[in-house]
Amino acid sequence: MLSPLRVCQPTSVSEASAELARLGDEAKVYAGGTELIPLLRLGLVHYTHLVDIKRIPALGELAWDGQTMHIGSAVTHRQLERSAAVAEHLPLLQQAAALVANVRVRNVGTLGGNLCFGDPHSDPAPALLVYDTRVAIGKHSGGRTIGFETFFRGLYETALEPDELLVALEVAPLPPGVGSAYLRTARFERPSLGVAVAAARHDGQLTDVRLAVSCVGPVPMRLHALESRLEGATLVESQRIVRQAQRHYEEVLQPVDDLHGSVAYKTYLTGVLLGRALAQAVGANGRK
Ligand SMILES: Cc1cc2nc3c(=O)[nH]c(=O)nc-3n(C[C@H](O)[C@H](O)[C@H](O)COP(=O)(O)OP(=O)(O)OC[C@H]3O[C@@H](n4cnc5c(N)ncnc54)[C@H](O)[C@@H]3O)c2cc1C
Repeated sequence: MLSPLRVCQPTSVSEASAELARLGDEAKVYAGGTELIPLLRLGLVHYTHLVDIKRIPALGELAWDGQTMHIGSAVTHRQLERSAAVAEHLPLLQQAAALVANVRVRNVGTLGGNLCFGDPHSDPAPALLVYDTRVAIGKHSGGRTIGFETFFRGLYETALEPDELLVALEVAPLPPGVGSAYLRTARFERPSLGVAVAAARHDGQLTDVRLAVSCVGPVPMRLHALESRLEGATLVESQRIVRQAQRHYEEVLQPVDDLHGSVAYKTYLTGVLLGRALAQAVGANGRK
């Protein structure tokens, strides 16, 4: 059972943030509610007020300006899945959005809610890490912009202050000629392992390699050191490198044994999925 709650419906980011500042620990941002409402029902979190952000017009915007995709935080997974502009300019994000949960969750669940919850089992997070993504954060006293790589701070922990809102993501597409692929496994409702990859191939050598992994450790991460090792390698060499990098995944991603698998299983599978995704990204098995 849900305890009685007061829901306020601000129409601007500064009004919403002012409410959060005024109410402190008593209030929480409410977007689609697919994470928040079950937690409230189960008594795992307690709030007396919800700040419903769905009436703030700026948070619902999804627009392509010719160089960057502007995605308001209250845009749903379903909107991303169905947007022709997202499919054209950010195919990796479109693929990831289409794999989230089921159509009921995708219809109400927002991208902002997915990211702000800070669950490492996120489909869109690795896709956004592969793109150049900036995060616009709003507060009653102003705003700030940070790189997406610094958004996740730990398990269920983000860079947001309690009175700040995730306003939008500014996402730049991959350079021309660079392919991409998103692959995941899912044993339960959410992904158990997700990899997003971008790469191009010129004269048999890989360039512009970008690798991101979610679910394995406490936060989704880019694997910059491994990316550098793949630059200039052939696809076959790259696949061997990512398959043999299990010690590296253990050090960098910091996996733990849990219901999704043992550390050994997760690091092994990371290498397998990265190798397959690299092949898909460069069109080696018919997809680009
Ligand atoms: C059955 C089920 C299956 C799922 N499967 C998948 C899956 O396969 N892949 C996957 O990636 N995810 C999955 N999810 C998670 C899903 O993506 C998220 O539930 C959804 O996107 C969360 O968005 P929401 O708008 O419902 O968030 P809410 O529940 O409204 O909010 C979640 C959290 O984020 C905060 N918040 C929301 N928006 C903002 C904002 N703009 N600024 C600051 N804080 C904010 C809230 O205060 C709350 O703490 C699943 C969820 C369910 C219930």
